[in-house]
Amino acid sequence: MVMQVLYSRNIKTVQCPRCELRYAKKETECPHCKGLPDSEIETLKLETEREADAHSNLGKVMSAAAIIIMLVVGFLFVLL
Ligand SMILES: [Zn+2]
Repeated sequence: MVMQVLYSRNIKTVQCPRCELRYAKKETECPHCKGLPDSEIETLKLETEREADAHSNLGKVMSAAAIIIMLVVGFLFVLL
């Protein structure tokens, strides 16, 4: 995920009109959907959306875990 952020910051990207994914401007063709038939594009889009959802869910779980850990640590400090 961090690599993706660095990638998109350092390299100028364009959005593919076909699969809506981003790729480096220097590429002449979209590496994501190059050679894929139209029927596969929808599948690719759905998979990408699902992955993005999984990432945002993971973020929520991580921040919830961080809050719980802080509460536990705070509680221990009160007890000791
Ligand atoms: Zn594409």
